[in-house]
Amino acid sequence: MQNEILLGSHVSFGSPNYFVGSINEALNYGENTFMFYTGAPQNNIRVPLEKCKIDEGLELLKKHNINPNSLVVHAPYIINLGNSLNENIFKFSKEILQNEINRTSAFKVKNLVLHPGLHVKAGALIGLNKIVEGLNDILNSDSSDVIICLETMAGKGTELGKTFEEIAFIINHVKNNNRLGVCLDTCHIFDAGYNLENIDQLLKDFDEIIGLSRLRVIHLNDSKNENGSHKDRHANIGKGNIGVDNLLRFVYHPLLVNIPKILETPYIDGKPPYKEEIEFIKNNPINF
Ligand SMILES: [Zn+2]
Repeated sequence: MQNEILLGSHVSFGSPNYFVGSINEALNYGENTFMFYTGAPQNNIRVPLEKCKIDEGLELLKKHNINPNSLVVHAPYIINLGNSLNENIFKFSKEILQNEINRTSAFKVKNLVLHPGLHVKAGALIGLNKIVEGLNDILNSDSSDVIICLETMAGKGTELGKTFEEIAFIINHVKNNNRLGVCLDTCHIFDAGYNLENIDQLLKDFDEIIGLSRLRVIHLNDSKNENGSHKDRHANIGKGNIGVDNLLRFVYHPLLVNIPKILETPYIDGKPPYKEEIEFIKNNPINF
C-alpha cells in the first residue's frame, strides 16, 4: 500500500492557544501536516515556550496520528546569515536562528525552513561563504536533531539559493551537513527560471546537484509571474503560470510521497483558501 500523501499549509500561531490552535486550524482544513512560525515572521519577539501549550499539542497530534517529525517550522525572515558587510546583523542573525532551533526542538519538530540569505551586494560567492560560516558556527555547538532546510529562492534582489548549485555549495562546505536539508518552493524555482513541465528531469537535476535525500519539505505554490521573472509572488493553485498539472505532479510523484507538501497560497477575500485547495488536490490524484 502506498503511504498517505502528506499535505498541509501554513497555519497561524498565536494567543490564546498557540500550538493547539495551530493544530486545530490544520485539522479543520483536512490536513495531516502543517507549517507555522513560532512568532511573527518579521521579528524575533517570541512568547515563552511555557505558554505555547506544547504538551497539550503533542497529545492532540498523537490522537490524530500525526507525527511531529513531519511538521515544519519556518524561521523568521529577518535572519540574514549572508551579510558580510555588517557584523552586528550577522551575529544577531545567528542568535535568532539558534533561538529558533531551540524552539523548534521544544515542539518536537524536526524541519526548520530557512531562507539562506542575501549577499547585500557584496557578491554571491562572498555571501555564500558567509552563510557557510554562520551555519558552521551554529552547528558546531548545537546538539539538537533539528534539520535546517535551506529554501530554494526566486532570486529577488540579492537573494542566494536561487539555483540548485548555490544550495549545493552551502551544503558541501558546511562541516556538520548531516543537519542540513532543503525546502523546494515551486513558485520560487519557477520564478528562478526552472522548467516545471518535466518533473522527472527536474528531480534528476536536483538529485545530481544536491541529492534527493536532502529534500525534506515542498512549498506548493503557483506563481503570479512569468518563468524566470525573479519576482516571488505566490498564486493560488491553478490560478498562476505554473499550472495545475505541473503542481499536482509534485504532490503525487512517487519519489516525493513521504515529503510534506505545504501550501503558502494567498488568502482569497481575506479568507484562507486551504480547505478548498486541499480538497481539490486530494480529489485530483495523478498516476505515474
Ligand atoms: Zn520561505
